[in-house]
Amino acid sequence: MAMPQRVRVGGVILNVPGSEPASPICSAKGCRADAVWVLAWNNPKLHTPDRRKTWLACEEHREYLSKFLGVRGFLKDVVLLEDWESQEPLERQEPPQSPEA
Ligand SMILES: [Zn+2]
Repeated sequence: MAMPQRVRVGGVILNVPGSEPASPICSAKGCRADAVWVLAWNNPKLHTPDRRKTWLACEEHREYLSKFLGVRGFLKDVVLLEDWESQEPLERQEPPQSPEA
């Protein structure tokens, strides 16, 4: 039985353009766990300084992937997936609710 595509129903969808996976699954090789963390990184030999590539990591692989990028000097940031998504300038920007409005 073939594995279905990485589609999740009812969960968050990481809306990153390009070659990133369309759903938040850990980027570690062979791992299909739900991603909890976003590792933002940049390879100065390939990318301009403000460019950010992202890996997704589950709790288990966050440290492993962070070290992998860290020893190469690529790692820029590690943020919770939900925080990353809320800070990404996506098209559907909803203004924060003001309690005093
Ligand atoms: Zn993992």
